[in-house]
Formats: sequence, C-alpha cells, structure tokens
Amino acid sequence: MIIAGNWKMHTDLVEGASLVAEVIERTESLALDADLVLCPPFTHLTVAATQLSGSSISLGAQHMHDAPEGAYTGEVSARMLLTSGCGYVILGHSERRTYFNESNTSVNGKVRSAISAGLTPIVCVGETLEDREAGRTEEVVGEQVRAGLSDADPGTADGLVLAYEPVWAIGTGRVATPDQADQVHGHLRKVIADMFGDAFAGRIRIQYGGSVKPENAGALMARPHIDGALVGGASLDASSFEAIVRAGLGINGG
Ligand code: PEP
Repeated sequence: MIIAGNWKMHTDLVEGASLVAEVIERTESLALDADLVLCPPFTHLTVAATQLSGSSISLGAQHMHDAPEGAYTGEVSARMLLTSGCGYVILGHSERRTYFNESNTSVNGKVRSAISAGLTPIVCVGETLEDREAGRTEEVVGEQVRAGLSDADPGTADGLVLAYEPVWAIGTGRVATPDQADQVHGHLRKVIADMFGDAFAGRIRIQYGGSVKPENAGALMARPHIDGALVGGASLDASSFEAIVRAGLGINGG
C-alpha cells in the first residue's frame, strides 16, 4: 500500500511546514503499515526533508527534467531532487501533459533518468472523458505505459509505482467507481506483465488517483488491483489525509 499526497502549487513555505508537521503527527504511526509520500512544491523540499528525517514518511517531487544538468532555466534534475531528500518523483501527471505539453516520449526520458539516479518514479496515466466514452480507455492507458516505460529498468517492482488517474476524475469531484478503477488497474497489470514479467507485475504498486476522499478511499483500496492512492486536493488537509490512510488500511477512527 502506497499513499501519496500531491500538493500541486498550493501552500507557501510557512503553511507547507505546518502541514508537514501536522501530517507527521497524525500519520507517523500509520506509516509503519503503508508507504506514505508527501509531494510538496520544489521550494518546500529541503525544509520538508528535515522535518521528515526522523519519520517513516517519504518525500517526493512533482516533476523533473530528464537531463542530468544544463541550460534549462527553471528546471530541476533527478540528482537535485535526490540530494534535496526526495525518494520519489511524480512523472507524467495529466496536468503536466495538458499544460506543459508532456508526451509519452518526454515522460519516458524522465522515467529513465529518475530510475538511473535512484529515484522511484510515480508514473501517471489516464484517459480523458472523450477516450472513455469512445471505449478507448485500455488502449490509451496501455500505450501510455508501454511508451512511458519503454527501455526503463526499475530493477525490482519497488523501484516503480504506477498511478491510474482518469483525467475526468482529477480535481472534479467525480470519482471512478471501484469497479471501473479495478478493471483498468487489472489491465495495467497485464501490460506490465508483458513488459517486465509476471512476478514484477504481481508486486508493482498501482495507485488510483482522482478525487480520492475519506468517503471513497476505503472502497477503492479494498479492490485487489488497487494498491494505494495518489491524492490531490484532500492531501492539503492533514485530517483528510489521515482519514484516507486509515481507510486504505481498513482502520476506523482516529
Ligand atoms: C492529483 O493531483 O493527482 C489528483 C488526483 O487530484 P485530486 O485528488 O484533487 O483529484
């Protein structure tokens, strides 16, 4: 089980530090049973790394460039993230694909750079509403995985995380049903098995993302192919994030 909070471009440094502190207080003991990852903005990483250093909660970034260094104003490299305390990096988020023209090819370059630097990529895939209505969901997400992970060598299944995030469910309040999500996750596992073998496919963690809230998290994560959640909006509230982790672990109350 792996549950990550994607803060997107929210919180200033002071707000971010207090959110990290509250998340640690609420979820530290739960982090023994699930991998928890916080992905704040770049500006917060080193402060958050210090705060998280004595905890079992990991740090992740939301994006990176694929080059090791160079004249790429405004960008950061895998090594910069690693040396700022990150263990994970979200790649191919639909907002990056939509607003920053990321393609399966550019995602692939980043995935390979992240892995070779020692970061675990959380690779996001998902179909648009138009794709879903045209019956193209499996084709679209299958191609995103095949192209995005082409020639990647994550070593073990722990070195890679997939996130299925239907574009129509991100930030919309519209969530995939557990059946819809589990069906796509099962398909993704088959694609992964074709690429990396059955043992790897059996172990890789595939998160669901898209309007995950305390009320729907338990039913989603109870499904056999759903191994966690990538949480956007609800991760900005420590009590909601805690409730989602508890729901994923099947623990009630707080
Ligand atoms: C996300 O940012 O990956 C996400 C799923 O956002 P939200 O939970 O707000 O839909």
